[in-house]
Order: sequence, then C-alpha cells, then structure tokens
Amino acid sequence: MASSDPDCLFCKIVAGVVPADIVARTDTAVAFRDIDPQAPTHILIVPVDHQPNVAATAAANPALAGSLFSMADSVARTEGIGERGYRLVANTGAGAQQSVFHAHLHLLGGRSFTWPPG
Ligand code: AMP
Repeated sequence: MASSDPDCLFCKIVAGVVPADIVARTDTAVAFRDIDPQAPTHILIVPVDHQPNVAATAAANPALAGSLFSMADSVARTEGIGERGYRLVANTGAGAQQSVFHAHLHLLGGRSFTWPPG
C-alpha cells in the first residue's frame, strides 16, 4: 500500500485533488508538466508512494526508484527529445533548492544546456 501525505502537493496531484497536465501514469508513478517550465519540455516524474526525496524512495523501494528513470526515458521519447538528449534532475534537500518534499525527477529538454548547472 502506497503511503500518502494529506498535506503534500504532489500526493494531491497523484490523487487528482489538485489538477495537473498529466502525460503518463502507471499504478506506481505519474508524469505531469511542471507549472513553471524551465525548458520547452519540463515534466516531473513522481512515484505514487510518498517519500520526501528520491534517495528515500531508493532506500524504501529500489525497483520503484529505477522505474522512475524508465518512465522518464519513455516520456522523453514520446515528447520527441529522446534522440537529441535530455537532462534529469533530482534536487535533494533544501540546500539543493528542493521545494516540494515528495520524490520527483525533473525531465528537461528541447533546448541546449550548460555544465556546471546553476
Ligand atoms: P523542486 O524545487 O525540485 O522540489 O521541484 C518542484 C517543482 O514543482 C518546481 O519546478 C515547481 O515549478 C513545480 N510545481 C509546483 N507546483 C506545481 C503544480 N501545482 N503543478 C506542477 N508543477 C508544480
């Protein structure tokens, strides 16, 4: 049984209580467009199970954490950015600018990127 936090924004999106532009869904994960896109394609991949960050998801359920990367690649290909390349970001902790404390990957693509990131 997946855990859920009634005060968590992404749990509310997963449950359909807060609307979002959902692009993919499985029993265990949901992908939806970021409300403040930082690239032409900016999609969030979130597990249904509430954990505060992807490290916690990986500790609780390594297979689920791995499946987030598979879903990200699948969505990237559907969005037409799989060939050119894309960036996956998992801000982990407030010091890394994480603002929503429900595990998620950012899938970013459709523009050029620089390194190191800002
Ligand atoms: P992070 O700062 O890494 O925790 O990422 C959280 C992301 O959630 C940010 O990129 C926000 O723009 C995004 N976000 C916040 N509220 C919503 C929402 N209601 N629907 C979609 N994305 C959101």
